[in-house]
Amino acid sequence: MKRFSAQYIITNSGPLLKRSVVTTEDDGTIISIENKQGELSEEHSTEFYNGIIIPGFVNCHCHLELSHMKDSIPKGSGLGRFIEHIRNSGDDKKRFSTSAASADNHMFKEGIVLCADICNTSDTFKLKKESSISYVNLLEVFGLDPDKAGSRMDEVSTLAETAKLMELTFSFVPHSAYSMSLTLLRLLKSKSSMNKVTSIHFMETEGEEIFLKQNRGPLMSSYKRSGLVPSRLETAKNHVDVILEEITRSGNLILVHNTFTDKNTIRAVRQRKNLFWCICTNSNIYIENKIPPLNLLIDEDVEIVIGTDSLASNTSLSILEELKTIQFNFPLIPIEDLILWATMNGAKALGEDNRFGSIEPGKKPGLLVLQNVDLQNMKLLPESYVTRLI
Ligand SMILES: [Zn+2]
Repeated sequence: MKRFSAQYIITNSGPLLKRSVVTTEDDGTIISIENKQGELSEEHSTEFYNGIIIPGFVNCHCHLELSHMKDSIPKGSGLGRFIEHIRNSGDDKKRFSTSAASADNHMFKEGIVLCADICNTSDTFKLKKESSISYVNLLEVFGLDPDKAGSRMDEVSTLAETAKLMELTFSFVPHSAYSMSLTLLRLLKSKSSMNKVTSIHFMETEGEEIFLKQNRGPLMSSYKRSGLVPSRLETAKNHVDVILEEITRSGNLILVHNTFTDKNTIRAVRQRKNLFWCICTNSNIYIENKIPPLNLLIDEDVEIVIGTDSLASNTSLSILEELKTIQFNFPLIPIEDLILWATMNGAKALGEDNRFGSIEPGKKPGLLVLQNVDLQNMKLLPESYVTRLI
């Protein structure tokens, strides 16, 4: 049994607690929370921290497969060029496996307990099987050529067989509206009719809308440069149609990025229930040098979750670094909201809130302490850091 205390505890299951005590089993299962209302006397065997205790972080969008691409793509190149770099990156298995393992290790140290990870191959499956982080594997499909849609589906079915053999949890997910033919979207929709979790890259760059509407703009130029424009180009006409008509209604749907979303889109897609809006601010700054419209998302009262995206477009897979960037750009957002997005909301989005996301008896959510926080104003600072207690 272990006892932890700190200046504050954010449980996500009750009010902010001042100088109170969390008791856990040695394996991290929460036994009890005692609200001392700040009147904590010196107690034997209680570890006290000058910071804020929170549940473990949930990363709702990652690509471990791209970990070997750290520092290899110039910042600010825009999404079209970014995708070309990824496509041309080649296949360096050895460098790949050591960098994915160290990225997994880094995420663990940064307090991440649960992670939704996009898979185009089975390269990370073994690592995930052995990891201390729980992974939700999102097997991704993309392809603009409708004549190749069938073979794309065969490929992802083979990937799913491997995941099944290794007893990994997985779902089938679309890459994005701008990278898929309607034929492929529809084949995928029927394949994913039992999904618990679906995600899609959504409105990450300004060029997506004009590509869908008129098949021109920077994304079309990028496809032309790469020789990827099929003889028959059939894409959805807009983002709202994709969400409401072309994606499974089963389970939760995570919209990833949302950098260029707007009020009309947010209101139009709202009729899709169980919708979550994933923010990957450091990646958006890296690729497009643009920050998602968080104030708009907050005003529209949507469920916000946090992702790191990959090391191809981020310098670190750290949820705290994402929250610090958000806090710096939106100083009025209360720390309790930031923590809720990065813990409980993420656990709900991934359908794992019975285990993760809040400090409650019976759960095993991971326990972290944030230090070097501005405790007077309850704000994160550039020098804030996180340590795992369990
Ligand atoms: Zn992504």
